[in-house]
Formats: sequence, structure tokens, C-alpha cells
Amino acid sequence: QEAQLRQIQKMEAIGQLTGGIAHDFNNMLAVVLGGLELARRQIALDPTAANRHIDSATEGANRAAELTRRLLAFSREDALHTEPVEPGALVAGMSDLLDRTLGDAVTVTVRDAGSGWHTRADRHQLENVILNLAVNARDAMDGRGQLTITTAGTALSHGAVGACPAGEYVSIAVSDTGSGMTPEVMERVFEPFFTTKPVGKGTGLGLSQVFSFVRQAEGEVALRSAPGEGTTVTLYLPRHTGQAAPAATPPALPADIAP
Ligand code: ADP
Repeated sequence: QEAQLRQIQKMEAIGQLTGGIAHDFNNMLAVVLGGLELARRQIALDPTAANRHIDSATEGANRAAELTRRLLAFSREDALHTEPVEPGALVAGMSDLLDRTLGDAVTVTVRDAGSGWHTRADRHQLENVILNLAVNARDAMDGRGQLTITTAGTALSHGAVGACPAGEYVSIAVSDTGSGMTPEVMERVFEPFFTTKPVGKGTGLGLSQVFSFVRQAEGEVALRSAPGEGTTVTLYLPRHTGQAAPAATPPALPADIAP
């Protein structure tokens, strides 16, 4: 059992390094190839639409170039650039990309509850995580359905989601109207290389990457799904306030010397 555990950990490490990169790259290539294919079909009939698809292919290629730039930067140890990010704004900025990646038969709705809260994250990494979830949703809906991404701010009590410590979190919920999952599948989805997709289509690395991202951010991920009822994956990331925690609550000033 000890050896089995070590084997799992080893697979996880390999999965996160090489496979994670391959998976992201694959998603980007899917955007490029999909865009070019649609452009090829429409170029004679509808040049404007074809141009839009070419733009989306270009964006996918730019993302792939950005990924390789970051890989190169890895050896200089500055691959991740964390900064305060407001999830509502980040997701709103992705809505064109999401529309194009998911195709016309999927309605994409982006909703922001408007807390204005920030979290500390690498912007590109968080975008890739959301793109992973959206591509999974597309696959589960067989290209047709409703994708809703809802961002909010929320206070969680200890253990409310997984093992989360009590505190304030921003949440990003990605919800689809797809096939849903059986309890047996739900139990295994975060394992590296677990996939129910045909060979060549699924790598089984998307959700394990999502999992390691939230863990690294000291957040949590919640999964709600049932066969035939769709799936909601919710990320909880610690709120970033930009202030160091005060050592202690300062004593209140007596009213007569208050400014
Ligand atoms: P991959 O997408 O390459 O299979 P993932 O780790 O992203 O790898 O997903 C693992 C498995 O979890 C999928 O093969 C699928 O069975 C299931 N899954 C993930 N997301 C969804 C979803 N939104 N709806 C239904 N099933 C899903």
C-alpha cells in the first residue's frame, strides 16, 4: 500500500508537470484548429464570420506562445506572477473567448454578484483553469446547452467546503446543463489521468490541474453533479484585502480624545 501511494504521488507529480502543460497546449490547439476549420468552411460564403474565426485562432496561438514563454521563464523561477485579481472582471474579459470556444449552440452567461473582492492569483493560470472547466462543460453537453459562470464573494465557516479554514473567499462557479456524473465518476475526477473520454480526446488532467491550482492557492473546490442534471464546479479562493492582518485589535479611544 505504501508503494502504491508513492506510485500515485509520482504519477501526480509527472502529471502536473508534463501533462498539465500538454493539456493546456492541447486546449489552445483546439481553439486554433477549430477556428481555422470554421474559417475554411465559411470563407466563401461569409467572409466576416470567417474573419472572426481567424481572430479566435490567432488568439489561441497567442496563448500557446504565451505558455511557452512562461515555460522558458520557469527556469528563471518567475513563471508565476501573482497579483490581486477580481474574478468578475477576469471572467467578463474571457466571454468572447468562451463564446467562440464553445460554439454557437452553447449559450454562455457570465454573472457577477458584484462583491468587488479580489484574490491573489496568476491571471493566466486562473484563465486556463476556467478554460479547462468550460471545455469539460462543452464536452459534457455534446456541444449544445447552457454554460453559466457566476462569480461572488462569500464567507465560509471552517469545513463548509472540503477542509477550508473559516474566512472570506471569492467563488467562481462553472455550471453546465450536460450529462452530469455518477457518484463513482465524481469520486475519481480529480485523479491525474482519470478520464471517461475516448483515447485521444481526454487526458484526464484537466480537473487534477484545477485541483492543484486551488490547493496551491489555499482554496477549495466543490463539485455538484448528477446524471442527467448537469454539473457545477465551484472554486473558492481566499479573499485578498491588500492589508497585512493587524496584530491585535487596537483599543478604542475614549470619546473625549477621539479625533
Ligand atoms: P478529461 O477532460 O481529459 O477527461 P478531466 O480531469 O478534466 O479530464 O475530467 C475527468 C473526467 O471527469 C472526464 O473524463 C469526465 O468523465 C468527467 N467530467 C469532468 N467535467 C465534467 C462535466 N462538466 N460534466 C460531466 N463530466 C465531467
